[in-house]
Amino acid sequence: MSEGTVYLVGSGPGDPELLTVKARRLLDEADVILHDKLPGPDILGEIPDSKREDVGKRAHGEGTSQQYINDRLVELAQEGKNVVRLKGGDSMVFGRGGEEMLYLADHGVDFEVVPAVTSAVAGPEVAGIPVTHRDHASSVTFVTGHEDPTKEESAVDWGALAASGGTIVVLMGVTRLPEYTEALVTAGMDPETPVALVERATWDAQKVATGTLETIVDARDAVGIEPPALTIIGDVAGTRERVADFLQNEPDT
Ligand code: SAH
Repeated sequence: MSEGTVYLVGSGPGDPELLTVKARRLLDEADVILHDKLPGPDILGEIPDSKREDVGKRAHGEGTSQQYINDRLVELAQEGKNVVRLKGGDSMVFGRGGEEMLYLADHGVDFEVVPAVTSAVAGPEVAGIPVTHRDHASSVTFVTGHEDPTKEESAVDWGALAASGGTIVVLMGVTRLPEYTEALVTAGMDPETPVALVERATWDAQKVATGTLETIVDARDAVGIEPPALTIIGDVAGTRERVADFLQNEPDT
């Protein structure tokens, strides 16, 4: 039993109203909040500087950062602090929350996991795209676009995804969009498959681009989509144009 407790808290996609009630309470009660940039300006702007520790990659440099964060969490808990580790979306969806949880357990630190709204689901839906739909997709896969799909030992089997017939949601996939859209077409997916990109979902700066596997790279560049953004691949991406006129999640489009 450690003296303090670490709360692994997801912030949701960025709109402060999408914080859970529990996350809000823990942020209020925390002695220290370790965060990176992904929770976004609206949520981070509410954190008093006296509680804030920015542990984003840029703050500490590559290589040292995850080890630094792990050790800092342990150290603060051992000092008896009430610590919130705040992550964008849900902390265990491509968020290294799993690694931090294991590290805390290995070091005898008490922790609590606070689930949240992941951008992987919320991002598509605020753009009018359901990740599953009875007529269009009966499965959904969340995948990282961070790695190079042309490298031999790719951890992501794009061929299997192309054959799955379900929705593919790519996180961290803005830069390598050309490589994996091509990999999917090469693996036999219809080049006309609808694709959408949703940047900064639920933030004031939310942006959306749409196209097909063949045209989405041009659409990305035309709209100027930058990270953080999600790529949604599959027939469900086509629902957006059917609802866009009535969708009130994007007041300025
Ligand atoms: N734990 C997070 C994901 C972290 S990985 C979650 O559950 O949402 C970082 C990636 O998440 C980004 O590259 C982007 O693909 C996605 N992402 C997170 N927040 C986002 C947002 N508000 N809008 C669009 N993409 C977002």
